[in-house]
Amino acid sequence: MADPKGFLTTGKQLAERRPVDVRLRDWNEVYVERSLLPIISKQAGRCMDCGIPFCHNGCPLGNLIPEWNDLAFRDDWAGAIERLHATNNFPEFTGRLCPAPCESACVLGINQDAVTIKNVEVTIIDKAWDNGGVRPQVPERLSGKTVAVVGSGPAGLAAAQQLTRAGHTVVVYERADRIGGLLRYGIPEFKMEKRHINRRIEQMRAEGTRFRTGVEIGSDLTGQQLRERFDAVVVAAGATTARDLPVPGRELKGVHQAMEYLPLANKVQEGDFVEAPISAKGKHVIVIGGGDTGADCLGTALRQGAASVTQLEIMPRPGEERPGHQPWPTMPMTYKVTSAHEEGGDRVYSVNTTHFSGDEDGNVQELHLVEVEFKDGRFTPVPGTERSIPAQLVTLAMGFTGTDVRNGLVEQLGAELDARGNVARDSKFATNVDGVYVCGDAGRGQSLIVWAIAEGRSAAAAVDAYLGGKTALPAPIRPTDRPLVV
Ligand SMILES: Cc1cc2nc3c(=O)[nH]c(=O)nc-3n(C[C@H](O)[C@H](O)[C@H](O)COP(=O)(O)OP(=O)(O)OC[C@H]3O[C@@H](n4cnc5c(N)ncnc54)[C@H](O)[C@@H]3O)c2cc1C
Ligand code: SF4
Repeated sequence: MADPKGFLTTGKQLAERRPVDVRLRDWNEVYVERSLLPIISKQAGRCMDCGIPFCHNGCPLGNLIPEWNDLAFRDDWAGAIERLHATNNFPEFTGRLCPAPCESACVLGINQDAVTIKNVEVTIIDKAWDNGGVRPQVPERLSGKTVAVVGSGPAGLAAAQQLTRAGHTVVVYERADRIGGLLRYGIPEFKMEKRHINRRIEQMRAEGTRFRTGVEIGSDLTGQQLRERFDAVVVAAGATTARDLPVPGRELKGVHQAMEYLPLANKVQEGDFVEAPISAKGKHVIVIGGGDTGADCLGTALRQGAASVTQLEIMPRPGEERPGHQPWPTMPMTYKVTSAHEEGGDRVYSVNTTHFSGDEDGNVQELHLVEVEFKDGRFTPVPGTERSIPAQLVTLAMGFTGTDVRNGLVEQLGAELDARGNVARDSKFATNVDGVYVCGDAGRGQSLIVWAIAEGRSAAAAVDAYLGGKTALPAPIRPTDRPLVV
């Protein structure tokens, strides 16, 4: 155990964020670089090394949290990264982006502030990169088997890294021009700088994983060709079919899906554009959807110089404390103030959009809404609460409805979909087509990075067993595992 009295003597201390007026002037991560290092060991020392560490259960990867907390407390950073990498291929992604279900499940959280597990995690991996502690792990011998991975998001990357290290020859196909999936094109730079993806890809290349960008499986190369050329195929193509808002005026110029808007801002940071082709500069911006994608639109619009940003949500405002029906150790629905919310904008709850109206050139000008209440199982408009707000750019961030099958990949492979529009799989991540596996959002539906990595690792174990008859790779989850909720 790190410090037997740590949880009694040390209070919770979070990472310091840069001042709002400073960070709004750039796109860098919002945290003060290395602000945590002097305090992180003490924070790790708050861990009680519980007999039953519920944090393990909260984390889909089964991260060995008390073990690396203990090592971080003792300043054994080399030992800590060895334990962290034992269960997580990419702690620099989860340490920055995960909503940390492990912290919701931390035993200390029953009556005190939980251990700041995520901050310890990101410090361990950042220190490891800085100290040269992240080296390529080249397989000792090759199996002679080949695997194609379709999609280079966290699920595809995790599967590819595990299978390469197991000795298989792995090619990752990505239709976009750069590797990373939603980590690259979706999640804004201010939440995670893309240099973290680039150096991980360099490590993977040095291990032997091959990457092919700008290749869409389904059109540039057919599903059948892929199946014929490779001994196994892993579909990790994500679930980016966005939910739409079929109301009058939806067709007006300036109404966009969040995923039409956010990647363009990412591309500016990559140096592809000087200014984003869809920009919030000087505009009244409305973000429809109160979740994390909406918050990403908010932070992006503020950095682009929006005149105002309003985020609309149909659900009522959640409470600040755990609701009674979501007790510890579940992940509760509480009121969240993300870094983007700290920076500005308004949040409006319990409203529904009725229609948009525009000018004679077809540009959106106003959004019309009505307040709603949840009655008899549905949202019902409250009479007399109709109003309009200025809207020159509207982004729709209302979630996703399944995997993107428009490109024909799934059809060409002959893979079946489940009732929710995701690629169906059995208990071993196998589709109905021999040798074709599915992992990440493509099989689970839009989820979290930590689940995508856990799925990629587990699917890799199944593929390794398929190719060689047995496997030594870990499989942290089953396809049916779900977050801890009641
Ligand atoms: C805006 C936004 C913000 C988010 N923020 C967070 C966050 O802060 N924390 C968190 O935990 N989760 C977040 N998520 C969710 C998280 O990003 C996803 O759950 C995760 O990326 C899923 O990983 P994946 O590998 O399954 O798919 P993806 O990351 O979607 O990657 C799939 C890849 O497959 C490629 N592809 C698709 N079809 C083909 C084809 N036919 N041929 C070749 N390539 C193809 C796509 O181009 C894409 O690159 C966010 C999601 C969005 C949309
Ligand atoms: S539940 Fe919390 S206190 Fe217990 S081992 Fe995990 S991180 Fe430490």
